Amino acid sequence: MNELRRFVRDVPDFPTPGILFRDITPLLASPEAFASSIDAMAGPFREIPARKVVGIEARGFMFGAALARELGLGFVPARKAGKLPGRTERISYGLEYGSNVLEVHADAFSPGEPVLIVDDVLATGGTAAAAAELVERLGARVTGLTFCIELADLQGRSKLPGRRIHAVLVL
Ligand code: AMP
Repeated sequence: MNELRRFVRDVPDFPTPGILFRDITPLLASPEAFASSIDAMAGPFREIPARKVVGIEARGFMFGAALARELGLGFVPARKAGKLPGRTERISYGLEYGSNVLEVHADAFSPGEPVLIVDDVLATGGTAAAAAELVERLGARVTGLTFCIELADLQGRSKLPGRRIHAVLVL
């Protein structure tokens, strides 16, 4: 078992009954665990040139901003509806619990710019697939997606066919 597993707290029935929530706050609170998770999330993407990291609100910001620094890339937030002040492109999608909208500034990328997408958890894959589609609609190119945790039973990879996917902890 990966040594980072003990820094992920399982919370049953949060935020709704039947969901086993993977709480990464203990991992963020440990300097060593946070650093080694960022190092591991960078993994294969050290060899794949990109210009920007797109982090998905909100926990994707925590990992994404640190990863952008680690890889020497810029950071672009993919935010929930109504948070970004400029002109945005938006996409709505289904979640493991509920539904959501993601928005990115319309001028976030230059044409063909290579982009790495980051989030904390790959669950059903709806969020990541939506983020990838949004990035591509804005004319950028998705080099891959990296996660701290992948929930294998939810088969999120099936929503990301043909994409390069990396996860540090597969639960
Ligand atoms: P999905 O679109 O189903 O892949 O869900 C991914 C998004 O929802 C990520 O941004 C996660 O932060 C969050 N998420 C979904 N399921 C869980 C879970 N069981 N524990 C923690 N976060 C989750």
